[in-house]
Amino acid sequence: MKTLAITLSMIITGTIISCSQNKSTMDNTTQELTAIFPKGEKGSSETFTGNAYPTGLVDADSVYSTLVGNVYFEPGARSNWHSHPSGQILIITDGIGYHQIEGKEIEIIKKGDIVKCPPNVRHWHGASAKVGLQQLYIVPNTDKGIVTWNEEVTDEVYQSVQ
Ligand code: MN
Repeated sequence: MKTLAITLSMIITGTIISCSQNKSTMDNTTQELTAIFPKGEKGSSETFTGNAYPTGLVDADSVYSTLVGNVYFEPGARSNWHSHPSGQILIITDGIGYHQIEGKEIEIIKKGDIVKCPPNVRHWHGASAKVGLQQLYIVPNTDKGIVTWNEEVTDEVYQSVQ
């Protein structure tokens, strides 16, 4: 009886999750993402796969050793693997995307989510396969460095999202 209840609840939960994802995917693909900040120039293929548009918004200076910027990722676009010496905070302002810390599962991120990437931990972030992503990034303590870039995220890793 207990097993049946667990199985039933898994089925019901699974159905609710897949319905809500389908709905939100449909809603988002029928309209352009809201562009709050300038789109900027296409990011280098040495640090991004696909079409990503990083734009600096606040430069670090002697008062605020903090960098703030926006990245617009078109569907399928993502950063290479990388790390930040003092970590990074992401604020998702529109769309649906993925974030993965090395050794962990891919997390689905969406408008309104806040993500913390711990210092010196390899990770990547980008859009989902079908819906783009707009994200603000905040890099603190830039006197320790900003970003160390590594290899690209393979299609195999990107497509391993659950
Ligand atoms: Mn990062």
